[in-house]
Amino acid sequence: MRGILQAPSRRLFLRRGAAAATGLMLLPGWLRAAGAPVWANGDPFSLGVASGAPSSDGFVLWTRLAPQPLSSDPETPGGVRPDRYLLQYEIATDSTLRTIVRRGEATAESGFAYSVHIEVAGLAPGRPYWYRFACGDAQSRIGHASTLPSNDASVAQLKLGVVSCSNYEHGYFAAYRHLADESPDIAVFLGDYIYEGVGKNPDNVRTHSDGVEATTLPLYRNRYAQYRMDPDLQRLHAEIPCIVTWDDHEVQNDYANAWSQTFDRPADFLKRRAAAYQAYYEHMPVRPSRSLPNGPDMRIHDRFRFGGLVEIAMLDGRQYRSREACYGPPDHGGGHVESDAACPERRDPDRSLLGREQEQWLYDGLSQSRTRWNLLAQDVLMAQLRQRNHDGEIQFWVDDWNGYPAARQRLINHLHNGRISNPVVLSGDIHSFWANDLKLDFDDAASPVVATEFVGTSVSAHPPPYDMFVKFLPDNPHVRYFESRKRGYTMLEVDAERITARFRSLVDATIPNTEVETLQSFVVESGRPGAVPA
Ligand code: FE
Ligand code: CA
Repeated sequence: MRGILQAPSRRLFLRRGAAAATGLMLLPGWLRAAGAPVWANGDPFSLGVASGAPSSDGFVLWTRLAPQPLSSDPETPGGVRPDRYLLQYEIATDSTLRTIVRRGEATAESGFAYSVHIEVAGLAPGRPYWYRFACGDAQSRIGHASTLPSNDASVAQLKLGVVSCSNYEHGYFAAYRHLADESPDIAVFLGDYIYEGVGKNPDNVRTHSDGVEATTLPLYRNRYAQYRMDPDLQRLHAEIPCIVTWDDHEVQNDYANAWSQTFDRPADFLKRRAAAYQAYYEHMPVRPSRSLPNGPDMRIHDRFRFGGLVEIAMLDGRQYRSREACYGPPDHGGGHVESDAACPERRDPDRSLLGREQEQWLYDGLSQSRTRWNLLAQDVLMAQLRQRNHDGEIQFWVDDWNGYPAARQRLINHLHNGRISNPVVLSGDIHSFWANDLKLDFDDAASPVVATEFVGTSVSAHPPPYDMFVKFLPDNPHVRYFESRKRGYTMLEVDAERITARFRSLVDATIPNTEVETLQSFVVESGRPGAVPA
């Protein structure tokens, strides 16, 4: 069978023995497990390595065996012959792996597409590490990981790179490359890491493999594998630890919990969601102890603390949300606009974007937080956005927080009444840069600013129409900045006095080696919510 891993055999042992005898064996002794496979038909580490979900004494190390990453045979994901494979890993305190501080083994199994998630603990806080995997005669590249500072550490500065919405068909991943060049302490992924659809658009610069919308586990797996074969994304993951949440396109455009844009029966849609979440798990460095999928459920929301400086709440804006307001066929699935007159349901106080349980988890965490800055990293636009239509009527997009205004008000009230220290919201989804004041009452010009929102543009996905959105701005004076014509990412530098946000824009995301520049910078001073141009 072409493309399939050779089974360990007597002949292989003889070959390996011969290689050792002639001095050709390149691997250190600990990697030469008896009966270890020889990878004859492709590099099993072709999808690279990743680290993420750091704690003060560890992190998650990820890889997935896939010598043939886009295997079309669902029985052999990644072109791996059904079996259990023993991987070895080593962790060092130097980038050339001279000083090894940890060695271990893990098993890769077919049920999770031969991915492994090593949840490391017991390391020193606040320092870098380097790691590598091996399996049989193959070794991965060396990756970089780091532990969080201890909770009582005083952290002078933190650099975060914030990314969202990387559509493989719409552009190249130059944003990921430039972000890696800037060496942030951590990369924050806000969702739409893959796009499930196929565009068949003449503007596309490259094509999703399989040529069909991802709806099943093998198709979602191939989508992630194709994205991870991109050299810029692969390099970012090898070099920069990450924390992640998702948005809609990891499953289906504009889905909400069990409700699809296409009006599938919820029971059927949850089967699709289970496949999509599992593929997400299989490809992301998330904690197995927290995020192991269970049918259609997978916990992704989590909290990360950087000493006394920053706490980040990574939120899940999709899995637990109420159905979109005024959902129903033929044309009210997923995102659409609604006015108060046509859709009073939108303001129903029982509706929630995070789900009541996650809301409470967020509020409790914020109330207990002792850090200078409190970042809320999540998928969709939070600021109110009044969209005036041709008849002068005000409408609201129901797929972001504008579809859940009561839940947004509960959160803003909690930030305000709880005197949460320096809340800053980071958002994605809308493929454009925004700097917004989050006000206690968006409809009252005199109402105080409670928090600051930075929305990052897409890595590559096509933008909303600029001219149309610019016309909305006079009705939304709390929007300090809007630009949809640029692709890129956001760099945040945080210290005790201020956050500096730099909107980094690509010259042209349809050119692989395109350059990056700073479009606009903003500063938020500690104790003074609201973004000020720098
Ligand atoms: Fe997107
Ligand atoms: Ca989205």
